[in-house]
Amino acid sequence: MVKWIVAVMIPILLILGYLYTETSVNTIGEANMVEEKAKDSEPEKKEKPDQLQDKTNEEMEEVEKREEELLASAVELPESMLFEALALSNSGVSVYEKKDKTSDVIGTLDFGDHVFVIEQTEGWFKISANDLEGWVSNTEMQEIPYDSSKKLEVKNPDDILVLINKQYRLPRDYTPSNLVIPDVAFVYEDKAERNHLREEAAEALEELFKDSYNNGIKLKALSGYRSFATQKHIFPNYVLREGFQWANQFSAFPGESEHQTGLAMDVTSESVGYQLTQDFGKTEEGKWVAENAHKYGFIIRYPEGLEDITGYTYEPWHLRFVGKEHAANIFELDITLEEYIEEHLN
Ligand SMILES: [Zn+2]
Repeated sequence: MVKWIVAVMIPILLILGYLYTETSVNTIGEANMVEEKAKDSEPEKKEKPDQLQDKTNEEMEEVEKREEELLASAVELPESMLFEALALSNSGVSVYEKKDKTSDVIGTLDFGDHVFVIEQTEGWFKISANDLEGWVSNTEMQEIPYDSSKKLEVKNPDDILVLINKQYRLPRDYTPSNLVIPDVAFVYEDKAERNHLREEAAEALEELFKDSYNNGIKLKALSGYRSFATQKHIFPNYVLREGFQWANQFSAFPGESEHQTGLAMDVTSESVGYQLTQDFGKTEEGKWVAENAHKYGFIIRYPEGLEDITGYTYEPWHLRFVGKEHAANIFELDITLEEYIEEHLN
């Protein structure tokens, strides 16, 4: 228990300490749909926001208080977990009662199922997943080689301010209850999953699109809601094809995609061939979105040069709904959702 709390503190401290780090993280959140890879590999670093400089003791106490709240809102991972793994067999992975293929099969993992490995021995992983605990052959599994101690499942997935990133993930079974198709122009006009948003976000997007068209700005929506199941299918296919490192760099791990919240929509325009590219930020449409999205309750979730905090490079196309009040605050403060939640609430 204590060691997990310690493990949980590390990422939070890392986020707070971002100002002192220069990493070479260069990830693009969602190359898993139609988009072209972003071309600007080295966006300019942004100046450290004024409000983060020279913190008073009082402010530091507030930050600490917020950290405690974040900790309290996260679910513990299995205490004995060694690492995580993905099932990579198309025919399913048998879970045995004992590390012996003649023992009882107590369950099956589907392709892409994500498990906690709590014990390992030659040729075998003891896994824990969905109330299932047993042994699987490790040849059918892909070990996830990053620091899984940073992963926490959020307890407030319906919260309009829910923070989802490479540290905080959504529960695997989370589906927003009020998904609708907004009445806006889509790149693909159909009833597919990707054209859905949570109702409150959908209404706000309709407003944004209406006003943008009135200003001669012709946006199209490309990709909104994405279920855990969809992401669970996309991600391991990339792992099989390109390897884990590539997949983790260019596609969100299942549960870590903000699109699963139903509060995010990728928008684009004809001027960039309806691609998701950083060039969108330089177009009339991209500039209008950057200047006006907050009026409708959206933020540019992954601003330029702040990947040390958000985990993603600049995505001028990715709009996240947080409600008008919070969006206006975030726009005025010129900060990320991470900083806003951890340092500016309460
Ligand atoms: Zn997106």
